[in-house]
Amino acid sequence: MHTPLCRHAAGEPVEYAAHAVKLGLTEIGFSDHSPMAVDDFDEWRMRDRQLDEYVEKVRSAQREFPQLTIKLGLEVDFIPGHEEWIRSLAARHPWDYFIGSVHYVSEGWDLDNPTKLAEWRKRDPFKVWSVYFERLAMAASSGLFDIIGHADLAKKFCFYPKEDCSGIIGAFLHTCADHDVAIEINTAGLRKDCREMYPSQAILNAAGELRVPLTFGSDAHAPGEVGMNFEEAVESARRAGYEEYQTFTGRVRTPRPLHRDTVEPLAKFAKEG
Ligand SMILES: [Zn+2]
Ligand SMILES: [Zn+2]
Repeated sequence: MHTPLCRHAAGEPVEYAAHAVKLGLTEIGFSDHSPMAVDDFDEWRMRDRQLDEYVEKVRSAQREFPQLTIKLGLEVDFIPGHEEWIRSLAARHPWDYFIGSVHYVSEGWDLDNPTKLAEWRKRDPFKVWSVYFERLAMAASSGLFDIIGHADLAKKFCFYPKEDCSGIIGAFLHTCADHDVAIEINTAGLRKDCREMYPSQAILNAAGELRVPLTFGSDAHAPGEVGMNFEEAVESARRAGYEEYQTFTGRVRTPRPLHRDTVEPLAKFAKEG
């Protein structure tokens, strides 16, 4: 989940936490867009000098809601060549987890940026998807990340390749399994043009078969998005054969059983409105 420091999210961590408590969630985590080595690399992340402020915002939510477990993470862009910078970020605070995300597939092109949609029309979707999943696999084998974020983000604007992508996607999932790196079910995809969670059920099924560890995320950019569509997310995970999910503390994962009552409070809340 995010904070206003990334310049495209609304609401303070305390407000996200308040919503989580209302839903009956027992644990949430923040993973705002990390700073880059050069400030204003793009317009959708915190600046380097704001990292401590970010941590303080999460700490104050922890103090205000002691009944709720609140994890401290970061969503970090994986770009080849940025490894040293990512290691230096890791050393600055006692993080619970790092989500490694690929948004950039070439210099200056963040493929999920709605202001750069024209770039998609100039490119062959299969080539874009190939580079995207190749970079995801590099992120998974880098040892820099605990979780890979929104694994099929390339589908966001529905530029689907005609070619079969199961080979490149399978190679990425094998890398996750080999390096004990988790993927997430990220429900934000339901709120985008593609209208489905990240990743698709087909990818999740393949991940389940390889026993790739799994986490749940709403990728909330506003307090009202906390825990959004988690009932469906749990249904999808079960359909893919998952019987447990992971939580992270101090960058160590702990499996938890995926019971039906994992989402019971959410289902109850949805009925009551
Ligand atoms: Zn964001
Ligand atoms: Zn992202």
